Amino acid sequence: MVQIDGVHKFFGELHVLRGVDLEVPAGSVCVVVGPSGSGKSTLLRCVNQLEEIDAGRIRVDGELAGYRTHTRGTTQTRGGAPELYRLHPKQIARQRSRIGMVFQRFHLFPHMTALENVTEAPVQVKGVTKAAARSRATELLDRVGLADRAGHYPAQLSGGQQQRVAIARALAMDPELMLFDEPTSALDPELVGEVLAVMQDLAASGMTMMVVTHEIGFAREVGDQLVFMDEGTIVEQGRPAEVLDHPTQTRTQEFLSKVL
Ligand code: ADP
Ligand code: MG
Repeated sequence: MVQIDGVHKFFGELHVLRGVDLEVPAGSVCVVVGPSGSGKSTLLRCVNQLEEIDAGRIRVDGELAGYRTHTRGTTQTRGGAPELYRLHPKQIARQRSRIGMVFQRFHLFPHMTALENVTEAPVQVKGVTKAAARSRATELLDRVGLADRAGHYPAQLSGGQQQRVAIARALAMDPELMLFDEPTSALDPELVGEVLAVMQDLAASGMTMMVVTHEIGFAREVGDQLVFMDEGTIVEQGRPAEVLDHPTQTRTQEFLSKVL
């Protein structure tokens, strides 16, 4: 579903992704762990085309999401300008609509109820009728355990409930791929479990997921693949139990000894 080949990303002089290769098969869960600043969020943002890559290629479901044979200390092009391929903004918008993203902060619309938050994008972006969107949103709120909170505003919900609304909102667009960027990091510890349970349920339903998290228990139980990133590269990857129990790289061992 996701194919990342030789991806580099710079912010000015800062070389944030340094040749990342990664494959996430359809229906699988890829958990990404690593220290702060290692490039995890940037990687997800590149997959969702919130950032333009500087070299390499990203495909989502066979479709190009970004492609460049740019240089800057990577492969030199033979004379002339670096090859640059940019998708049309309409293509980008269409591809992005197939990818759901959930952030650390929930970013719900504060002036809308839970139900309105979930119906907004399908109606505005996909042109779904209000009635159809409402019925689907009701289903989705039920699925994340919030059927009785449909009429509540974000301020009337706990952090865990708000994050579950955010997940329902992403699902309302019928994504083929869900990206989670530390979805439980901003939550009080007692609220983490309810969000992880919804994510586990989603994984069991066959959703393809990339999840940045420090929740090692979730990684072990739900992940099909665990990727350890440090300083813009994938240092180690494999079955979660393998990487967690027998890390081969010193950097992975050091990191795990801090979070476990
Ligand atoms: P992580 O999610 O693993 O903590 P990030 O992908 O957020 O790491 O950041 C990787 C590096 O890129 C950090 O050094 C961060 O400061 C830098 N960075 C991230 N976004 C930007 C940006 N928009 N502009 C400049 N630097 C950025
Ligand atoms: Mg991050």
